Amino acid sequence: AAKAAGRDRLMPYEPALQQEAQDRLSLLADLRQALDSGELEMHYQPQIELASGQLIGFEALMRWRHPTRGLVPPSVFIPLAEESGLIVAMGAWALLVACRDAARWPGSLRVAVNVSAHQFERSPLELHVIEALERSGLRADRLEVELTESALLQDNHRAIDLLTRLRALGVRIALDDFGTGFSSLAYLRRLPLDQLKIDRAFIADLDHARAGARARAIVSAIHDLAQALGLHTVAEGIETVGQQDVLAEMGCSIGQGFLFAQALPRDATQAFVELAHREGLAAAREAQLESSHG
Ligand code: C2E
Ligand code: MG
Ligand code: MG
Ligand code: MG
Repeated sequence: AAKAAGRDRLMPYEPALQQEAQDRLSLLADLRQALDSGELEMHYQPQIELASGQLIGFEALMRWRHPTRGLVPPSVFIPLAEESGLIVAMGAWALLVACRDAARWPGSLRVAVNVSAHQFERSPLELHVIEALERSGLRADRLEVELTESALLQDNHRAIDLLTRLRALGVRIALDDFGTGFSSLAYLRRLPLDQLKIDRAFIADLDHARAGARARAIVSAIHDLAQALGLHTVAEGIETVGQQDVLAEMGCSIGQGFLFAQALPRDATQAFVELAHREGLAAAREAQLESSHG
């Protein structure tokens, strides 16, 4: 009787759950087609050297232009791609497209490409990186790979080995969303990294009246730790001048966020880098804001 009552109580939720499961299934079926149908795009968000105010490169961020649902955010489709294994093909594609696009940018601007846990653990990542570099002609030191802590925790020896081989190619390694994962300081010491990206949750609070002091203590501690380990720090999600000022004063090397620009489509990125190269970052930002506001 207790069981029946339990089932009765769950009844009202079942249709909703079923609907959700069906939505996921249909989205997954669509995602299987997305790559071949050309519905995936790479967009690029500028990264700025805080001390000099110079553009140093971009983070590549994937977008899915779904024929009926519109632009589906990566927070929705990347997890699906991970669970289904589609991320292996999508990730190889992302590396190639990002390297090809970056190879057309002037100067020695870098591109940072996200690699998720499944991709790091179960795809021939080193091969995909080598192929992308060879086919695009991009110099290896202009490519950066961004990994999260979850990707590195599974098999630490394999992770160290793979990262060491990628770095031997000249590729840079960034640890993404730092401070939100199961940060173990012990493994940080042993991983061959170039940069720590401080998670935007900490950055958002930097200029808060009440939460600010604690956020500043955390960000400053992460920055000191990075410096002691010989790593650069990147602050993601900078939205205000106040946050930028606090970070610059701390000595944080690189900043990224809506304050500078959102992720731009490929052609807008190309226009942005060419203008920044000729007339400076301020001119490129102004032109970008003008074109995005009509
Ligand atoms: P992430 O690698 O931490 O990327 C940074 C995210 O923060 C991006 O979201 C970016 O648009 C957003 N962001 C940047 N500046 C600001 C800001 O000032 N304020 C706010 N509120 N947000 C900001 P996006 O593009 O939605 O991507 C979400 C996540 O999806 C990424 O987080 C990354 O984990 C994953 N992702 C995106 N593209 C790829 C990809 O090509 N491959 C893989 N494996 N994962 C990807
Ligand atoms: Mg990232
Ligand atoms: Mg991040
Ligand atoms: Mg993130």
